[in-house]
Amino acid sequence: MPTRGKVASWFAPVGGFGVTISNMFRPTVTEEYPSEKVPTKPRYHGRHQLNRYADGLEKCIGCELCAWACPADAIYVEGADNTPDEQHSPGERYGRVYQINYLRCIFCGLCIEACPTRALTMTNDYELAGPTRAGMIYEKQDLLAPLREGMLAAPHPMVEGTTDTEYYRGEVTGPTPDQVDWVREHRPDDPTLPGGAGVDAANVPGPAAAVMAETVAAATKQGLRGLR
Ligand code: SF4
Ligand code: SF4
Repeated sequence: MPTRGKVASWFAPVGGFGVTISNMFRPTVTEEYPSEKVPTKPRYHGRHQLNRYADGLEKCIGCELCAWACPADAIYVEGADNTPDEQHSPGERYGRVYQINYLRCIFCGLCIEACPTRALTMTNDYELAGPTRAGMIYEKQDLLAPLREGMLAAPHPMVEGTTDTEYYRGEVTGPTPDQVDWVREHRPDDPTLPGGAGVDAANVPGPAAAVMAETVAAATKQGLRGLR
C-alpha cells in the first residue's frame, strides 16, 4: 500500500473542508418549505379527485375498475343503481361508496389509467397529513371535485334526450332549464340553483379533507415558527 507524503498526511484531516468551502460560493438550492411552496410539475401524482360533468352530474359509474387495478388495495368502491329520484351520474350506475386509503396509496396512478370515464384523476396536492389513521381514509365527499360556477349539484336527471354517450363525448355543456326546474321542485333551498347562495355554499369539504387541511395548516405554522 503506498504511503502518503508528509505534507499530504498533514492536510488530510482538513481536506474534506475543501468541498464545503467550494460549495459556499454556489447559488443556494435549498427549498424554503413550508414558507415557500414550490409548484410541482404539471403531471405530478398527488391527491385524487372524482370529477363531474358540466351539468354537475358525477363521472364515476361505480364500476370498481380502479379498485381492481390498484396494486396496494387502497381503493374501496360500492356501486348502486341510479333511480329517477336519485340520478347521480349518467347511465345506470353511480359510485355510492368511494374510499381511498392514503396510508396504503403509493401514488402510482394505475387507478386513473383504469378509469373508463376519466372520473378519477390526480391533482398536484401533495400536502397529506392527518392526526389519526382513520383520518387518512378519504370518503367520496372528500374526493369529489368542487362544483364550478354554473353547475347544478347532483342528484338530478340527465339532460333531456341524451344518453351517457353524449356525456362521454363532452356534448353536455351545462344544466338545462328542465334540470333546474327539477332541482327547484325537489330541493328548493339548493344553493346551486340560479339565485341561490352559490357554489361556495355547496362546496363543503368532507370530514377527512377538512381535518387534513387543518393538520397541514397547523404543521405549516409550526414549521414557519421553526424557521424564525
Ligand atoms: S395511485 Fe396507485 S396505489 Fe394509489 S390508489 Fe391509485 S392505483 Fe392504488
Ligand atoms: S373512479 Fe372510474 S374506475 Fe373507479 S369506480 Fe368510478 S368510474 Fe369506475
